[in-house]
Amino acid sequence: MSETLTPMMQQYQSIRRSLPADTLLLFRLGDFYEMFFEDAKEASAILNVALTKRNLTPMCGIPHHAADNYIRRLIKAGRRVAICDQIGEPQKGQIVQREITHIVSPGTVADLHMLDAKRNNFLAAIYAGGKSGYGFAFVDLTTGDFRLTELADEKELADELARVQPAEVLVSEEQAAQFRDVRGLVARDGYTFLLDQAYFTLRDHFKVQSLDGFGCEELPGAIGAAGAILHYLKTELRRSLSHITRLVCYRNSQFMVLDAATQANLELVEARGGGRDTSLLGALDRTVTPMGARKLRDWILHPLCEIAPLQQRQQMIADLLAEPFLLGNLRETLKSIRDMERTVGRLTQTGGNARDLQVLRMSLEQIPQLRDDLEALGKARNPLEEVGRAGAPRQARGLEPVETAHLSGLGEQIRGDLHPLPHVVELLTKAIVDEPPALTREGGMFRDGYFAPLDELRNAGREGKDWIAQLQQRAIEETGIKSLKVRYTSVFGYFIEVTKSNLHLVPQSWHRKQTVATGERFITPELKEVEGKILGADERAKALEQELFLQIRDEVLRELHALQSTAAAVATLDVLGAFGETARLFGYCRPSLSEDLRINIVDGRHPVLDQSLVEEKFVPNDVLLDGEKNRLLILTGPNMAGKSTYIRQVALLTLMAQIGSWVPAKEAEIGLADRIFTRVGASDDLSRGQSTFMVEMNETANITNNATVRSLVILDEIGRGTSTFDGLSIAWSVAEYLHDEVKARTLFATHYHELTELELTRTGVRNYNIAVREWNDQIIFLRKIIKGGADKSYGIQVARLAGLPAGIIARAKEILSNLEQHELTADGKPALAEAPPPPKHGMPRNKKKAEQARAEMKPQMTLF
Ligand code: ADP
Ligand code: MG
Repeated sequence: MSETLTPMMQQYQSIRRSLPADTLLLFRLGDFYEMFFEDAKEASAILNVALTKRNLTPMCGIPHHAADNYIRRLIKAGRRVAICDQIGEPQKGQIVQREITHIVSPGTVADLHMLDAKRNNFLAAIYAGGKSGYGFAFVDLTTGDFRLTELADEKELADELARVQPAEVLVSEEQAAQFRDVRGLVARDGYTFLLDQAYFTLRDHFKVQSLDGFGCEELPGAIGAAGAILHYLKTELRRSLSHITRLVCYRNSQFMVLDAATQANLELVEARGGGRDTSLLGALDRTVTPMGARKLRDWILHPLCEIAPLQQRQQMIADLLAEPFLLGNLRETLKSIRDMERTVGRLTQTGGNARDLQVLRMSLEQIPQLRDDLEALGKARNPLEEVGRAGAPRQARGLEPVETAHLSGLGEQIRGDLHPLPHVVELLTKAIVDEPPALTREGGMFRDGYFAPLDELRNAGREGKDWIAQLQQRAIEETGIKSLKVRYTSVFGYFIEVTKSNLHLVPQSWHRKQTVATGERFITPELKEVEGKILGADERAKALEQELFLQIRDEVLRELHALQSTAAAVATLDVLGAFGETARLFGYCRPSLSEDLRINIVDGRHPVLDQSLVEEKFVPNDVLLDGEKNRLLILTGPNMAGKSTYIRQVALLTLMAQIGSWVPAKEAEIGLADRIFTRVGASDDLSRGQSTFMVEMNETANITNNATVRSLVILDEIGRGTSTFDGLSIAWSVAEYLHDEVKARTLFATHYHELTELELTRTGVRNYNIAVREWNDQIIFLRKIIKGGADKSYGIQVARLAGLPAGIIARAKEILSNLEQHELTADGKPALAEAPPPPKHGMPRNKKKAEQARAEMKPQMTLF
């Protein structure tokens, strides 16, 4: 075949060779983008378009005017797509030049139709190596958000991937096999990950001597991943990255650890089943800007473990709540601010258009108002209040005059980061028309009077058009043809159209140009001359506008840092305003945070059900955990009583407190948790149909091996997936282990009422159940958590209520009481708790048991 290649196919092959094999090449041919060979086979299957053959070459094409739509589908299918366009006019005897104009990939989409305004779209990279296990970096190219870290092991990596959910994950070719189950994997030459190369890439991009300033100097794996990302973006995807101005190095110990199972079980950002949005994010999202919505999601997935920054957020909410009118104003102002972050990203990356500039202007115009609102908030705030709270003598209150209005630390920081950029606003107001076009090459972006040479060109064009309008009048008068018209088409330019019946009146000097159904079209030398002037002026005006656009864009982007910090401050303010609004609407309280182990909630409510219950009102409940006498709470009670809701509620309120939000409760003390673990029994997790006992045990092993005394553990049934005796035994020993060895604060909902006997043998165990009442053959769920274990015969009562014959009920009661007689030992202790006497020598029983258990429970997880 090689000798018979046409010049066009030679051109195709040479462009194809410049691309990695996993990137589809869309090759512009006239009105179509064509794909050939393997690309054609794959794309035709994904797009469901016909695969054809020309000279044995498989090909498929998509019309260029509908290309966006097809490209979206290819990207959604996880493919990278290179768009090759025709450059310049075709020359006689030569084929037209073609070039790759852009390459789109799932992690780098700029197309607004493909992006969810409320969430980031991340490209990530993983690099096994370095000091600890894995270097990890990720970037949102639409916003410039770029972060890196190192993760100790596969488990941490899997959890981080679940938290970030990157659309595309870059790894080195040599390491690709170990990550093959990661979604969106792309493998590239490993040298870009090597420390020296990556270090150079990063230094070169950020124009710094060393990476000290980013705090990642000691993290070679992370540097490898971050460097490889930049290299991939610059070299392969040919992106302009000037808006990536920051690199944030984080350690996952800064944040509460949330493993993938817990994120899902607590429905933090996504509801489990389809249908109604029952996620925490759904309940809290009262943000009014896309930046705010994205930041809220990020905060929910990154709860903090430090008190100071959380108290700053809380204080800001308190200040806003003290001035509900200002809170309302502030949120109203925020509503007019558009997605500045992504707009800036578009302007730097893909060029953007005049509408983007318009968006920036409209958003910046709101900034002075926002700053005023914040200032008013500072004035309204009584600075002595905090002094009093910090323990100053009461008589100091009110004595000193309030001199300066002052905002809380965070409020002040936000205000400082909001840059109104008046010169940018002025420039854009002067330059850009009120309703600019979407394209930059068709002109019409700039106001008259903004730039004199542009005005001149436009005037030349306008004068010509006026002249042509007059020409029609003159021609009608001269020829007497009343229906005569001067018209314009892009192919023929200007012409005079005369209907058939009037052709005899046309003067000799007119040249016949074209015959149409209704008559004939004529031109005159004069008409053509003016036409030349008009079109020339129009063309030059358009070119000039495009040049001006680039100038003004660069001028605006000179304020890149200020624009980015303004956008970030708007996002933070928006989230805090949303927290304030939610707290106001649903009567939340400000939790007091501490570093001890106490979680004490009075009248707590489940944040999601509290907002969504319509028929029933949500019944509030208390909880007390202290790591000592109230370390492990065992919760029993019939199905549907509200056990699962209650234990999740405690976890969610703790998490809310750790993102700085107020909480749905009357009072709350939250001793910060380093991690929240959840285990949800198979039968309580209907959406994950394939759940097996093994998965359950894996998750349990994860908890027993990783929980610390500072953790909060939520167990919703353990051991259901196996026989009763097996299940009960495992549930029992897990509970003992958590109580004795891990000492984590634990809530354990279980249908094994036998577990309530643990309270007799363990000092930190407390039994609770959920009150129910029978009334006229109905069970009424009171939803109230009360002390003590559940009534053991409850199941039999339900059976009676359901209409089982009285004989069966009576016999079941007999059998139950026989069983119960064997539950206590001769001296009245629970028989199930019995253990053989400890060996005379060696370690204490529990310690030994613990070591054994640890050895046996070594995780054998397949993680991806
Ligand atoms: P269990 O785990 O005991 O089977 P759930 O926690 O699943 O019960 O609760 C069942 C239903 O009861 C929930 O879907 C909710 O509608 C309702 N519910 C639970 N707790 C409360 C409460 N405190 N107030 C009002 N309704 C509640
Ligand atoms: Mg349940």
